[in-house]
Formats: sequence, structure tokens, C-alpha cells
Amino acid sequence: MSAQSIPAAKPLIGEEERQAVDRVIASGMVIQGPEVAAFENEFAKLVDGRHCVAVNSGTSALHVGMLAAGVGPGDEVIVPSFTFAATANSVALTGATPVFVDIEPDHFCIDPKAVEAAITSKTVGVMPVHLYGHAADMDALQAIADKHKIGIFEDAAQAHAAKWNGKPVGAFGTYAAFSFYPTKNMTSVEGGMVVTDDENFARQVKLLRNQGMERKYENEVVGFNYRMTDVHAAVGRVQLTKLAGWTEQRQRNAAYLDANLRGVTIPKVASQAEHVYHQYTVRTDDRDAMVAKLTEAGIGTGVYYPIPNHELPSFGLTLDLPETAKACREVFSLPVHPSLSTDDLERIVTEVSKAAGL
Ligand SMILES: *Cc1c(COP(=O)(O)O)cnc(C)c1O
Repeated sequence: MSAQSIPAAKPLIGEEERQAVDRVIASGMVIQGPEVAAFENEFAKLVDGRHCVAVNSGTSALHVGMLAAGVGPGDEVIVPSFTFAATANSVALTGATPVFVDIEPDHFCIDPKAVEAAITSKTVGVMPVHLYGHAADMDALQAIADKHKIGIFEDAAQAHAAKWNGKPVGAFGTYAAFSFYPTKNMTSVEGGMVVTDDENFARQVKLLRNQGMERKYENEVVGFNYRMTDVHAAVGRVQLTKLAGWTEQRQRNAAYLDANLRGVTIPKVASQAEHVYHQYTVRTDDRDAMVAKLTEAGIGTGVYYPIPNHELPSFGLTLDLPETAKACREVFSLPVHPSLSTDDLERIVTEVSKAAGL
């Protein structure tokens, strides 16, 4: 008999979340009640007290933030190609053009040199992704953004509570977007947060998420229904109280894997970064065979991401982004989530060694 499989990710949604959902449903105020505002205020503590506006997904957060920043047709926004498709999709949805650039190989984040080389007279912003929970190089990106007077739109979907030079991600850009999808470091089942230090920008996002209305039936702009419900916000509020403990557990699990894994290249962490390990991503020359062997052995893995975004049928571009291509061939992610036991971690290490033929 083989032991039970270790899942690649495991959302922890339990009794406290159920009680919170019950409380909201019993109150009758399931939308536009007090929970969303409370979640926004509590989340602000994670991002140096910036304004927070909750929406119904991370993708909505990216999209509506870009619209509030005035991005539209004729504009270019520089994005990494090595990320989830929502990054570039949110640019394209505004009518602007996503300009795909390469990553730096150590931390899988957008390469500042490639950003600077891609700037044109149409560039209005750069969207770094804090991939896998490791912040992009915000010093270099800030310097480039200042020099060329462009915006920074942070895709922080995978990086709740990650830091760069001690400052939390989400507290750098014109705006940042977080996701609360179930596999992220915390969840509201589905949901997202727009973060900004500009009060007018926050007001614009609030208008856009709710049909352009602040006062009922006095629609000021053309907007969406991107609202978060109070049921979702109640789940998010419970999760927020657990995030710090879960993050520490992810970091402890990663430290164990760093110290013990053989046969793969472990992730590097920049000296300025506090990594929150949304994913623990390794490299190997023999990725597909190794993933197959680990699956066979009951070790959950994920390949984030097998195809450069610019090559997806939705964008269909041919570009020379060698580090992106290499990462797409070499990476896979091992379980690092907070519910791993010591036995699980030992088994992961043993099976990776076996899969590597050691
Ligand atoms: C998950 C994710 C998103 C989108 O978030 P959703 O809540 O699923 O819409 C955007 N960017 C990145 C990098 C992500 O991982």
C-alpha cells in the first residue's frame, strides 16, 4: 500500500470561517454590510496603512486598478512573461498593450534591465509580479519608474506579507493587487484587494467596482459589478488573523527543504527580501520525468508556469526571452503549505532524491 498523497496545496478553511459565514448570513446583511469595510481596514495593517478596496477577485483588482490609473488604448505596460495569465490579461482588458519582458534567473521576477530597455514613449507603467512570494527588485524598479516617470502596478497576488528592505509588498506602487483565491497564502474563497496610498485613486476604484455609484442611482462613471460580498469578507477576516502563523510555518517548511533537498536547485532569496513561499519552486534539467516520478510516489507538485505568457494562444507572440523559456522548461514546485507534517517533509526530501536517481 502506498502512503496517502501529499497535496501540492491545501486551503485551510475551517470551523471559525464557517461560524463567520453563519454570522453574516444570520445578520441578513450579506452584501454591502459591515464586513467588507472591516476587512479593508484590517488588511491595511499589512500594507503600511494604505487605502484598501476589496473586490471579487485578484484579476478584478489588477484590472480596476489599472483603469483608475488611467491606463487605456495606446498605452504600454511592461509585464513579465513568466507569471499567471491574469497579469497581462488585466493590461489587455483596458485596451492597452502588455509588453512582455524577461525575468532575472535568481528569483524569477521581472528583470529591471529588461524593463528599462523596453520603455518607449507609450510606456505608462510596469507591473512587477512578486512571484511565488518573493518580492521583485523594488529598488531598481523604483529608480527606473522615477527616472522615466511611469507608474508601478504591483501584482502581489502571491505575496501577502512579503517584504523588500523590510517594507511590505503592496506599499510600493501606484497601486497593488492582492488575490484571495483558495490556494493563495490566505483566502476569502474568491476575492481581491486594491491597495493605494492615494485617496482619490481609492475612491475611483470604489466607483468602478460598483457601477460607478457612490450615491445610489447617481452613477458618476461607467463601472462594473466587482463587489466583494460580506460573506467572502467574513472568511477573509478570519484568515487574516492566521496569516502570520501560516507564513512562519511556510518559512520553516522552506528552511527544512533548503537544508535537506538533494538533486534539485533550491530557490535563492535576495538579501533584501522576506520570502513568504506561496510556492517553493526548484529547478532541474529533467523536470517532466521528475514530476512524473514524484506524482507516482504521491508527492503533489505543480508547474508554474509551463508556457511563457506571450506564447499563449491569447497573445500569440514570438519573442526571445531566454530566461523565461529556461524557467518554463526547468521549474516545478514542491508542497510548502502550512499543513505539512515533519513526516511529510521527510518524505518529500526522500522522494526527490530517489526521483533524481541519488
Ligand atoms: C492568482 C493570481 C492572479 C489572479 O487572482 P484571482 O484572484 O485568481 O483572479 C493574478 N496574478 C497572479 C500572479 C496570480 O497568481
